[in-house]
Amino acid sequence: MDQNEVLFDRAQKSIPGGVNSPVRAFRSVGGAPRFIKKALGPHMYDVEGKQYIDYIGSWGPMILGHNNPHVIEAVKEAVDNGLSFGAPTVGEIDIAEEIKRLIPSVEEVRLVSSGTEAGMSAIRLARGYTGRNKIVKFEGCYHGHSDSLLVKGGSGLLTFGTPSSAGVPTAVTNDTIVLEYNNPKQLKELFDKEGDEIACVIVEAVAGNMNMVPATQEFLETMREETAKHGTVLIVDEVMTGFRVALGGAQSLYHIDPDITMFGKVIGGGMPVAAFGGKRDIMNSVAPLGPVYQAGTLSGNPVAVTCGLATLHEIQQPGFYKRLSEQTAKLVKGLGAMAKKHGVAFSAQSIGGMFGIYFRGKCPTSFKEVMECDADRFKTFFHAMLDNGVYLAPSIYEAGFVSITHDDSVIARTLEAADEAFAKVKRV
Ligand code: PMP
Repeated sequence: MDQNEVLFDRAQKSIPGGVNSPVRAFRSVGGAPRFIKKALGPHMYDVEGKQYIDYIGSWGPMILGHNNPHVIEAVKEAVDNGLSFGAPTVGEIDIAEEIKRLIPSVEEVRLVSSGTEAGMSAIRLARGYTGRNKIVKFEGCYHGHSDSLLVKGGSGLLTFGTPSSAGVPTAVTNDTIVLEYNNPKQLKELFDKEGDEIACVIVEAVAGNMNMVPATQEFLETMREETAKHGTVLIVDEVMTGFRVALGGAQSLYHIDPDITMFGKVIGGGMPVAAFGGKRDIMNSVAPLGPVYQAGTLSGNPVAVTCGLATLHEIQQPGFYKRLSEQTAKLVKGLGAMAKKHGVAFSAQSIGGMFGIYFRGKCPTSFKEVMECDADRFKTFFHAMLDNGVYLAPSIYEAGFVSITHDDSVIARTLEAADEAFAKVKRV
């Protein structure tokens, strides 16, 4: 047994499933997860000292690569000043101003500590602001694990959702309507019928929790038009896409003006910072100004905010997103070519520093099509890559992430590993 297996056995005796977030447990691909000791640039090192090229990037935040020296220096300085005060700090104003400057739809922003909190608070705010209960989400989108959002579509969709987790009462999800992603017709039908009763629509503009599935322009435009027409709050969840697909987020690529945007991941640069923000009259419904309660002991934590701010500064260097997009495009193009060489049905695409790989001839456009991807072939590919020092997300439902430190040599090494991995996939 190697050290990873020994530690996984040990972890399972004191932590449910041995992990503190389920997907880390490798349940769908099998085997022991790697216990990471340290990381630098595009690489992570496990407890055995083995090096991996990292395409998870802590599930999105590590856009600068690991241990960026400017970020680490800023964080060390912040630590010297104290870990937490529970009182306002200048950094909180700085990061709010920075977010506003980069994302023009945001007029005011409240910091929280996780994307889950951002989603939960945004939904409560939309309900409090509109005085309506019903909310709309889309199949395959994930917005954190708050009760009313843990919902799967009922039969035939366009129905009220049923809970997708034990412990969530149906009473809580009764007001959550689940629709198909990228189906503007279905959305319009719902709004024609009951638009005036709907508090909000929440959406990932580039879905990253059913692998990667970009929204169509028509889908988002219909959503903006219908929500505006009916006084429904449009929440765009940019926890994953914010500062990842472009400096201005997915909303800048689609030219969509949300009422509320959720942020997470990159805005914390690897520490627990997330946020929800948007139009001033809506945000003014939040406590202490308005009747919608929301709070957090560690919200706006000075060390975490410093880490986020330093990260936001770095990503504004000239040419950052051009280079990030080019490197990510090289990766997916290279993977596609390798798959073709080995005659494996495969497709891949990227937007900015985010990518999707699919064991399916064509990139999927819906949850249903994602479900058609070949999970067995992915599993073989995943393990072959991991053995060869390339760490991909251990699930067919996750997007992948590239950092600015993934240079040509790193991409080339990845493609060498993929050459062998696709050969293996072909044999099984
Ligand atoms: N929204 C989206 C789009 C996400 O990808 C995630 C996390 N993967 C969340 C919300 C929840 O964020 P957190 O894990 O920080 O609670």
